[in-house]
Amino acid sequence: MLEQAILLEAGLVVDGSGGPSWPGDVLLAGDRIVALGEGLRQRLPEGIVPAELESIDCRGKVIAPGFIDVHTHDDAIVLRDPLCLPKISQGITTVVTGNCGISLAPYRTPEARPPLTLLGSDSFQHATMAEYRAAVEAAQPALNVAALIGHTTLRFATMDALDRAATEDERARMGALLEACMQDGAHGLSSGLFYEQAFAAPAEEVTALARIVARHGGVYATHLRSEMATIIEAMHEAGDIAFSAGAPLVISHHKCAGPANWGRTLETLPLVDALAQRQDIALDVYPYVAGSTVLREDLVDGVIDILLTWSDPHPEVTGRMLADVAREWGVDQKEACRRLQPGGACYFQMKEEDVERVIAHPRTMIGSDGLPHDRHPHPRLWGAFPRVFARYWRERRLFTLEQAVHKMTGMTARNLRIADRGLLRVGAMADVVVFDPQTIADTATYDRPMSASVGIERVFVNGACAYLGGEGEPEVRARAGRMLTRA
Ligand SMILES: [Zn+2]
Repeated sequence: MLEQAILLEAGLVVDGSGGPSWPGDVLLAGDRIVALGEGLRQRLPEGIVPAELESIDCRGKVIAPGFIDVHTHDDAIVLRDPLCLPKISQGITTVVTGNCGISLAPYRTPEARPPLTLLGSDSFQHATMAEYRAAVEAAQPALNVAALIGHTTLRFATMDALDRAATEDERARMGALLEACMQDGAHGLSSGLFYEQAFAAPAEEVTALARIVARHGGVYATHLRSEMATIIEAMHEAGDIAFSAGAPLVISHHKCAGPANWGRTLETLPLVDALAQRQDIALDVYPYVAGSTVLREDLVDGVIDILLTWSDPHPEVTGRMLADVAREWGVDQKEACRRLQPGGACYFQMKEEDVERVIAHPRTMIGSDGLPHDRHPHPRLWGAFPRVFARYWRERRLFTLEQAVHKMTGMTARNLRIADRGLLRVGAMADVVVFDPQTIADTATYDRPMSASVGIERVFVNGACAYLGGEGEPEVRARAGRMLTRA
């Protein structure tokens, strides 16, 4: 039987390995890449006839592996809104869910509590990874999903109070849940020790879980216990947990937050290099100086700017600055923050030089950390990946085009144990993006955050054309995404 074949012709092939690009063609058939090279039209593989071939002129365009968003909170949105427009319109073909200790599975409750509500869902319905997998497959999202299992979720699923360490029995139950998830193909464990609901967990509690992950060849990703004054201690803790468990480590959305810590990437990145001497370690980052999470009084310091992204009691303040709202109410910012809860915000807590140092580091992958349920989301949700090209490659020249692509593809697939993706190779899955290197850019801003990027021409997921950019309204076509299984 002839499979549908698509010839991407005469583009600049950037294969995701970080190696040099070359001018040529990429041929897709079925869900695979079947040939790469120059002048492929003249030497088509057997079974593919020119008349059946759809060919796409890629002159002046880059042909690259589909981007892998290593840091997402898309667990619920891929089920609820399977078009995934904010992501697919950036050229993203795989999202890694379950970051920061928060995953939708394995947990069942009609009424989730913070920080699980970050996923935008009150009801958690998947008691096992297998149930979540079935839900993703039924929803047919436009992109692939690779899942991490959250330590905080495991705590909710097994403990009645979270302001303490887990007992021996609770640890055993968490371990059993995680073990089953790993057998069902999860890519690893994430933690969010920064969040109150996990903060009381000692390192040993996490190490025991990371050991299970290591046995299955998975990864340990962590939102550090602190990204502020005690970040060095928190990095040592993360390093020791992963090292003694024997699991590769990913430090999530690396940053030095708060004015008192600006410039300290000069300490943290050398520490990453030092840890790399003894263990497998990587970082991820989003390319902005503002972070975003739920409203937290401890992050309101009266110094940094804070943009409100949602508030349940006061939805009318969405998109405004906390300082302005506080002034209007005649109260200080901390009091305003209390009145607005529950809610979310963007915190302008980083320094540009630090962001640049982290992005440029050779062990850093790109992840959006977008929050798809916020009413006025951080612009990273819609713009993170194109922004890396527009601002940090074209404008600042922090790295080459090949390195930029590598940070979103090959490096990520290797670190997250994602098989057959992230590289343009014969036999690899046909996740491919075609973009214009001269125009690719984010258009989402803090004022207008829900805006599709420009310069992404076509996105293929498992060989099907998932997205068509260019003129007019952006359009999601095929929903050919799959639930992935750890390599
Ligand atoms: Zn986080």
